[in-house]
Amino acid sequence: MGYPAEPVTDAQGAWNNALASFSGPQETILYIHIPFCRTRCSFCPFYYGSATDEERKEYAELLAEELVHWGKFFSRDTVNTVYFGGGTPSDLAPSELELLLKTLRRNYPLANDCEITLESRIDGLTDDKIDAALSNGVNRFSVGVQTFHTDLRRSLGRTSDRNAVLETLGRLTARNQASVTADILYGLPGQTEEMLSGDLETMLRETRLSGFSFYRLHLHDRLHLAREIAEKRVPPASDEAGCFSLFELCEKRMGAAGTRRISCKHYAFHPRERNLHNEISAWKVPCIPFGMNAGGRLGTFRFKQTGIPADYREMVRAGTKPLSSAGKLPDDFAAGARIAGQLNCRMNFDPEFTLEAVPEEKRERVRHALEPLLSEMETRGIFTKPEYGVRSLTARGRFHFAETAGVLMEAAAEAWNGEI
Ligand code: SF4
Repeated sequence: MGYPAEPVTDAQGAWNNALASFSGPQETILYIHIPFCRTRCSFCPFYYGSATDEERKEYAELLAEELVHWGKFFSRDTVNTVYFGGGTPSDLAPSELELLLKTLRRNYPLANDCEITLESRIDGLTDDKIDAALSNGVNRFSVGVQTFHTDLRRSLGRTSDRNAVLETLGRLTARNQASVTADILYGLPGQTEEMLSGDLETMLRETRLSGFSFYRLHLHDRLHLAREIAEKRVPPASDEAGCFSLFELCEKRMGAAGTRRISCKHYAFHPRERNLHNEISAWKVPCIPFGMNAGGRLGTFRFKQTGIPADYREMVRAGTKPLSSAGKLPDDFAAGARIAGQLNCRMNFDPEFTLEAVPEEKRERVRHALEPLLSEMETRGIFTKPEYGVRSLTARGRFHFAETAGVLMEAAAEAWNGEI
């Protein structure tokens, strides 16, 4: 759910400006990107390339340098979450994990309940890596499972089979030290309701997972999988109606199991699972990016870091932020953040809560822009009737929450800027 930002020509200037106007302490999250993967998964838009041991080691050292350099600028803030995303952060060697986690703890004021997530892949998640992660503060593993179905996994380019997935998850959960969650995909080519039911039953009955994220497959032309489907090497992916059936199936099964719903895309089996990074991020709080290709937000700007290794090396060594671009967020972002946060995390919409973020002189205009849309969405079965002024998303609304948020954000922005 992106928000339009006006590109700025001087990204470094924007960063310095954002840093200067940033007044802590406030909720802050860090995103640390490890771009490399050992193999490409055909459904994934984030594949960057693989790295040799030497390249990965140098990258970890540069990343540590970047973390040290910028730590002093955030010393007044409380860091609520740290997310190692990728790529494949679990491909870091134990010594590299230790270096980054120790650097982080020495240089940033982590909240006592700071959630530190390591995105992990089943292949290569060895005990020495788990040890290095746990003994240096990782308290959440987000594991890319996608499906437990071996044939379906193989058709997506995943190399490990169902038994390997269960064995790895079992080793992680047996530590009883961290939340362990899985990413599960729906709408995959050839995925039937029976196959998805099998995955849900497996999680409920054969694992001790703390929770899972339930993501819809989004196909676009640049994906390897889209080409495979076009060439009829794999069956077509589920259409809109098929995806909605799978989404509803999951909601019903998890409802029957008494699973806690954290947000539109996330379920918790165990109280220790908070999904804090994604939940806080949905409200568009400051997110400080580190590493190649990382994205973040600070002040009134959005930033993207370079994905070119030589540029990254040069900028980190020169002590500049390794940015490739920046965009200025509009003033109406304040209302947009409330719309996005409510729909995703609370799964409802309270117009009054949204309007609190709108300057008083613009409030009536924004209210009048939102009201007819909300009524129309109620007619289409996206929202329930309001209770206490708050409308809940229906199952269809939760399925379409990102598009719904986009429509409301656009209407609020136009009214804010006097365009309607
Ligand atoms: S799904 Fe994960 S491991 Fe596979 S290509 Fe994407 S980022 Fe890499």
